[in-house]
Amino acid sequence: MTRETPHVLVTGSTRGIGAAILASLEGRARAVGHGRGDGPLAIGADLSASGAGDRLWDAALARLDGRIDVLINNAGVFEAVGVDAAAADWQAAWARALQINLQASADLCRRAVLHWRERASGGRIVNIASRAAYRGDSPAHWHYAASKAGMVGMTKSIARGYAAEGILAFAICPGFTMTGMAEDYLASRGGEKLLADIPLGRVADAEEVANAAAYLALEAPASMTGAVLDINGASFVR
Ligand code: NAD
Repeated sequence: MTRETPHVLVTGSTRGIGAAILASLEGRARAVGHGRGDGPLAIGADLSASGAGDRLWDAALARLDGRIDVLINNAGVFEAVGVDAAAADWQAAWARALQINLQASADLCRRAVLHWRERASGGRIVNIASRAAYRGDSPAHWHYAASKAGMVGMTKSIARGYAAEGILAFAICPGFTMTGMAEDYLASRGGEKLLADIPLGRVADAEEVANAAAYLALEAPASMTGAVLDINGASFVR
């Protein structure tokens, strides 16, 4: 990776873990954020739309003077659909989860790899997956778990495929992390009782995930490429 100040694109940075990642990069990188809609600090791109990942990459590249060194795929949705839903609703929920959580991330990873190959520069990808990738999720979240397992497989493929070109890829698998996404889920699953499943006795903070993402983005040794970091208070140990 270049020795200049790293240029970083963080998706889904308007709140939660993404906002914490942007904060943790402050002073250490020139980072551009992203959200569903345009804002002063974020490029707007609704990743549920086909091709949005490519449009976001182009916009981020323009904001960062033609160079991106690190891509952090953090945007994601955690939406429920039960087996008793109508087939059309079930399929729409699957298509949406896979589009936002996996396809858009894949499109951005593809553009990143092409960019770094063209520049012969190397670069880093940090994909925010989930504990669900390994452990599975609730009966209403097969699609979520599948999208995150896909993200882990994609990350490992990139790591193995392009390490020789200095292109490194990492994934993070958070367990419950206290953000809007987790709060809704915790409430819907019985709140405090769920904490009994976490040996650490509490859910993770967004800052804990963000610090790990910043470490992988800026400092982790190249030999760590392909690594998947668990941040789950030992609630799932593999
Ligand atoms: P959040 O809901 O607080 O934030 C999600 C971010 O993604 C927001 O910035 C939002 O704008 C963006 N986003 C969602 N849908 C989008 C769309 N269609 N187009 C563009 N942007 C969109 O979520 P969070 O809890 O901070 O989670 C961040 C990431 O961490 C997600 O990928 C999530 O799957 C993963 N994760 C979270 C937890 C948790 O417990 N919070 C656990 C494991 C993994």
